[in-house]
Amino acid sequence: MEDILDNLNDSQRTAVEWCDGPQLVIAGAGSGKTRVLTYKIAYLLRKGLAPWNILALTFTNKAAREMKERIANLVGTDRARGLHMGTFHSVFSHILRVEAEAIGYQSSFTIYDQSDSRSLVKNIIKEMDLDDKIYKPASVADRISMAKNHLVLPQTYAMSAWAKDDAIRRQPSISAIYKRYCERCRQSNAMDFDDLLVNTFMLFDANEEVLQKYIDRFQYVLVDEYQDTNYVQQAIVSQLTKPTGRICVVGDDAQSIYGFRGANIDNILNFQQEYPNTRLFKLERNYRSTQNIVDAANSLIRHNQRQIPKTVYSKNDEGEHLVLKPAYSDKEEAIIVCNDIRRIRKTENGRYCDFAILYRTNSQSRAFEEQMLKDNIPYRIYGGLSFYQRKEIKDVTAYYRVVVNPDDEEALRRIINYPARGIGDTTLRKIIDVANHDGVSLWSVISQPHLHPIPVGKSTLTRLDAFCQLIEGWRVRMAAEDAYEIGHSIIMESGISKEIYASKNPDDVARQENLEEFLGSLKDFVENHREEGLVEQMSLADYLQDVALLTDLDSEQGDEDDRVALMTVHSAKGLEFPTVFVVGLEENIFPSPMSAGSTRELEEERRLLYVAITRAERHCILTCAQNRWRYGKLEYDTPSRFIKDIDTRFLRVESGRQDYGRAESLSGSRTKSVYGNSFSGQSSRSGSSWQQNPHPVASQFKADPKPRIVAPRQPESSVDPLSPSFRQQLQNAGGSRFKPVNRVVSSNSASSATTALKEGNVIEHQRFGVGTVLRIDGSGENAKATVEFRNTGTKQLLLKFAKFKIV
Ligand code: ATP
Ligand code: MG
Repeated sequence: MEDILDNLNDSQRTAVEWCDGPQLVIAGAGSGKTRVLTYKIAYLLRKGLAPWNILALTFTNKAAREMKERIANLVGTDRARGLHMGTFHSVFSHILRVEAEAIGYQSSFTIYDQSDSRSLVKNIIKEMDLDDKIYKPASVADRISMAKNHLVLPQTYAMSAWAKDDAIRRQPSISAIYKRYCERCRQSNAMDFDDLLVNTFMLFDANEEVLQKYIDRFQYVLVDEYQDTNYVQQAIVSQLTKPTGRICVVGDDAQSIYGFRGANIDNILNFQQEYPNTRLFKLERNYRSTQNIVDAANSLIRHNQRQIPKTVYSKNDEGEHLVLKPAYSDKEEAIIVCNDIRRIRKTENGRYCDFAILYRTNSQSRAFEEQMLKDNIPYRIYGGLSFYQRKEIKDVTAYYRVVVNPDDEEALRRIINYPARGIGDTTLRKIIDVANHDGVSLWSVISQPHLHPIPVGKSTLTRLDAFCQLIEGWRVRMAAEDAYEIGHSIIMESGISKEIYASKNPDDVARQENLEEFLGSLKDFVENHREEGLVEQMSLADYLQDVALLTDLDSEQGDEDDRVALMTVHSAKGLEFPTVFVVGLEENIFPSPMSAGSTRELEEERRLLYVAITRAERHCILTCAQNRWRYGKLEYDTPSRFIKDIDTRFLRVESGRQDYGRAESLSGSRTKSVYGNSFSGQSSRSGSSWQQNPHPVASQFKADPKPRIVAPRQPESSVDPLSPSFRQQLQNAGGSRFKPVNRVVSSNSASSATTALKEGNVIEHQRFGVGTVLRIDGSGENAKATVEFRNTGTKQLLLKFAKFKIV
């Protein structure tokens, strides 16, 4: 035990060792909060708590995976196997699948993503004949989401402060839309992201036995980034831990950055009232960053009124100042950043993955992408339009969703007439009317027209019947085939493949590539699980569950590649990099224009910059541009008001321009007048010297069309994405922006141990740990072993694939 705890300082160690009740660790960035959680779990395991009795909730699945790996390194893979770890959404969606019936769902429920939710809201607004200029679907959907996250349900919404808060002209109907929205989700056997939390709360609230089962199971609950939990998340944690008090949460109020999505900083502020016996721990020493970075970040955050006072200091090197590098344009900003990456990489013998470029909004990535392509700097973009949100991928997954859960309305609407099969909008309208009238799903109507007559002609009924047969056929096969077999058949037999491969225009070529990449990821998903030797194959439903919960950060893998990371500041939470560029530090970008009106929101923006700066270990470089292309026009901005919040003792201004010797460079003295040490007069937009004197180079950008990055590959000749060239193409796509979810793992040759395996042998499996062989069935290629694992239960393994050794 000692050896583990030696890696901690005294305050961290005390926090790890104290397990006598509710525990709150509040500390600044980089002070080891996540480390304390990780070591505490290792400590609990060493003390004898079983891994499946520990629940750790993290902000991304990636963070959970990393934490699991570290714990396995500390206590051994076996000891760490079976830990419950993941995001709130992933942990509780698994519980809901098991307990679905208790809340009137089937366990095959699908998960609606944000675009499904918005589309449903939009349809409802249309059906209710409401004006979608007043009831904007996106904002109504956000309103509903916020209400859910505060556990304000449709039945109480109309009476709540929420309804009073709605703009007067929208008051009467939001609550009606909300009610219908929930009914429709239920009829569709679907849950949106918020439902995964709300329904968990309701499940525990209404079923004492179920709740008790999970209280007994999760004997210790740990939460990272507690400052960004919302009301319902806190309520669930409370249901699970109030009776036991075995809870440890860590967080930093100064890093609360998800208020706009309903996160509630009060959860951390009120924790001690919620759990009266709480012991509070503080960590003060930052291990991540140089003294200058820590001091600069502290000087910035001091300008916020609402915060828990705390000390953060670093004993690392003093390091260099933060550097502010103003640029003329977004284009020049990208050049400055790329030059710096090359310079620092060379002088410090670093890797590309030591650099991160952090921006306020995803759209800022484009200028950097262009420049990096020109400069041959490998990069990876995190977030943005997810691979799974692309039209062709959504179409395919909509088919999968209907096959797994035919009641899924959003998926069914998407594919009922795609590819075109003569079921037009009028028919769909009629089906929806019947479904709404009878209070059943669209699928119930079209699959049982004798029970729910649809007022359409005979030929339309025949086409609907053919569609139902198609889906039913796959549903039957789904039980016997793995996710890849059935998934591939659906693409071929639905006509999607033919549709996408019919065209040779560049957009369709890109679609073909995406489809191939998608199929590759599906195959890898199945193979990776087969590699574990499990006889039970991965079904289409398993695959959908896996992809539905990917967050911005999880959707891209292959972190081991040496690439510069580009992401929003929100996505960078919890991460660290030797060099960080915080770009686009201008009014109207950072702070976001949406926050300008309220101190509360401005404080959240300031915390966001605090998060950005504190990701840096050695270098933190800030940039801003005088003009940039936004929404198709050239805009002029003043530097962000936050720059002057940073104490000039820790920040220096440097013109990056002479680095690459542009003829149009501004003189150093001009730079000073804008960013003079006192930063006087720079924060008001109208007072900007930039705005009054737009730089002459601005005109050149007007004629500069923004090049789009077009996929450079040749059209695939075959219609079948499974053609031999498909694999080759996948392999060639090394530089692709989108990586398959699960990478190809080299296929596993039969273990030599299989031949000798007998009943009664004790084996150690790579993933499931130590277990006893109960039975062997079949022989040769088909030999299967039934093994009772000590910690992970009884499993059937196909010996051809299973990775294990006899112990
Ligand atoms: P954030 O607020 O950004 O989430 P955090 O408080 O969770 O940060 P960690 O990520 O746990 O901080 O730690 C920051 C860095 O400092 C990590 O690289 C971690 O390994 C290192 N670190 C923390 N404590 C120690 C220690 N006692 N000895 C050595 N390194 C440490
Ligand atoms: Mg952390």
